[in-house]
Amino acid sequence: MAEPAPSRFLPRRWIAEARDALTSILIPAPCRLCGELLNHSSRIPICNSCLDNFPRVPSKLCAVCGLPMPDIAEVPGEQLKCSACRLETYAFERARSFAIYEDAIVRAIVMLKFDRIEPLAKWFAERLAEIYSTNAELLNADVVVPVPLHREREKERGYNQAELLSKPLAKMLRLPHRGVLLMRTKPRPQKLVLTLRERWAAVRGAFEIRPGSQVDNLRVLLLDDVMTTGATLDACSKALRDAGAKSVVALTVARAARNPLPGSGES
Ligand SMILES: [Zn+2]
Ligand SMILES: [Zn+2]
Repeated sequence: MAEPAPSRFLPRRWIAEARDALTSILIPAPCRLCGELLNHSSRIPICNSCLDNFPRVPSKLCAVCGLPMPDIAEVPGEQLKCSACRLETYAFERARSFAIYEDAIVRAIVMLKFDRIEPLAKWFAERLAEIYSTNAELLNADVVVPVPLHREREKERGYNQAELLSKPLAKMLRLPHRGVLLMRTKPRPQKLVLTLRERWAAVRGAFEIRPGSQVDNLRVLLLDDVMTTGATLDACSKALRDAGAKSVVALTVARAARNPLPGSGES
């Protein structure tokens, strides 16, 4: 029997990717952040200088949640802790992020959320792998788990942007990826902009462990695109800890640099 043509087995997406790669060689595309023509041959639609200029989280930060604390005086021998972590707000042990959530990175994350730009997600995953490696003793984990979307939201969007990051990261760290371990059972409210109080209320009890999943004694590395209040990571961590996880640490691409607690005067 004749072998079917191999192209029949090529997923449509591969063909599209090959076509896009070819097009970008032939016709240089503009950087989607600054408009300059792209000066590299990767399929990331952002130029090298924009990639280099994402505002990185400074080294002076809350030892627990990673909140940038550039103006706080350090006391020798004492860990820096933000007001939220002094109140033991979070169920995760540590959180760290690559960049401050402002300007260009906000637009880059929108690209992940709505355009499924996997080469960009992989580039961010590389940066998070570097953070993991340089903080290995703090972030040690057995499995990588993405923060899930509610199934209706994922159906509508077609994918989960946290998983675009967690899959390549798990591969780089050589850790198992558990994409369906957690599920979001309560959808996000329809309202577009939520106050701090509403954000915390919206995720309370919103996550559950998928029935039959084994979590006991696992050290979990949670992945998400952005940490704003930390309420989502906290709710996921609570669900994981209640199911017996030994510890939860979190990595996000970006981090809002502000007080995350309700009652801090912000809305
Ligand atoms: Zn650029
Ligand atoms: Zn903190």
